[in-house]
Amino acid sequence: MQLETRNLKLTLLPGDGIGPEVMTEVKKVIGFLEDKSSLSFDLHEDDIGGAAYDRYGQPLADQTLDTCRASDAIIIGAVGGSKWDGVDYNLRPEAGLLRLRKELDLFANLRPAIVFDALVDASTLKPEIVKGLDILIVRELTGGVYFGEPRGIEDLGNGEKRGVNTQVYTSSEIQRIGRVAFDLAKKRGNHVTSCEKANVMESGKLWREEITMLHGKDFADVKLDHMYADNCAMQLLRNPSQFDVIVTDNLFGDILSDEAAMLTGSLGMLPSASLGAPGVPGLYEPVHGSAPDIAGQGKANPLATILSFAMALRYSLNEGAAADMIESAVQDVLNAGIRTADIMAEGCTEVSTSAMGDALIAQMDKTLQKAA
Ligand code: NAD
Repeated sequence: MQLETRNLKLTLLPGDGIGPEVMTEVKKVIGFLEDKSSLSFDLHEDDIGGAAYDRYGQPLADQTLDTCRASDAIIIGAVGGSKWDGVDYNLRPEAGLLRLRKELDLFANLRPAIVFDALVDASTLKPEIVKGLDILIVRELTGGVYFGEPRGIEDLGNGEKRGVNTQVYTSSEIQRIGRVAFDLAKKRGNHVTSCEKANVMESGKLWREEITMLHGKDFADVKLDHMYADNCAMQLLRNPSQFDVIVTDNLFGDILSDEAAMLTGSLGMLPSASLGAPGVPGLYEPVHGSAPDIAGQGKANPLATILSFAMALRYSLNEGAAADMIESAVQDVLNAGIRTADIMAEGCTEVSTSAMGDALIAQMDKTLQKAA
């Protein structure tokens, strides 16, 4: 396999709990690529979350943000833990992550839901329904009802209160997320399903109009379907393989991406990406949290973070061949029955976090030798 020479600027933020353990395995993969291919990385490592609070007094220090801005991509482990429960709300570990997303205006959240053949039995759905599943959910992340004004709880003075949130989207917000979804679909199955509630919400009606217009103008060669979000929730359980890319707003995306993730049955396997405007570094992180219950025990599954790194190679670093190599090594290792405790099954071999990383490297080495 021929990989071209480029110096790729990466910031690694391991964070808290199992974050540093899984990031160690990502570093092994990076080291392997440096040794065995012509890729070269300019690595910066820093703290985020509780670790950053302990070191800098804030969950994301200004200098860390500057380093992130100057990178091609940012990889995060996880943040959070009970140690910081008593810390002010705006200094909590999660606030570091929220600040990073906000400062970089990362408006597109990508959550793949892939069912690896070897893990088909881990899903709560029947194997024949989820086999070969490969969906990408593109969720709008910075607008909609989570941010819309007015919002708040009002005392009506008669023993009643009124809670208000506002669902609001502008044409440009809809078009920019639509563009991300269509561009990604072109690199995959060339099919976008756009989800809203145009039947009962004006913001949904506008969403549908804008996506339809964008499609006609710039992406007529991509197949486009519209679906009401409630129907999408049902279709994900009934016949998930009908989907390729699903694009939806912040609220529906929050729910549908968790539903799709659970089709795969294993939190330790799920990567994610958050992307902004062209030129802004993408942020890549596993879907799982800091897993304090297993931290420091060598039990964490590092594959979600390694697969997040593979997404960084594909979407921010334009190194799809290296991403393919990592993803197919994950398939091969799972097919060989090598498992961390969270995905352990009868007849397989249970391994530690570090042994999983080693097995992946050995598999990639084998693949490269075969290709040579
Ligand atoms: P969690 O995802 O950390 O853990 C849920 C369960 O899944 C636990 O039993 C854990 O052991 C297991 N698990 C998670 N990742 C795993 C992995 N890679 N390998 C094996 N098992 C794994 O969620 P939680 O317990 O609700 O939250 C723990 C902390 O993480 C909290 O402080 C929470 O705020 C934080 N959190 C952070 C993020 C993030 O960094 N993006 C996301 C979710 C939760």
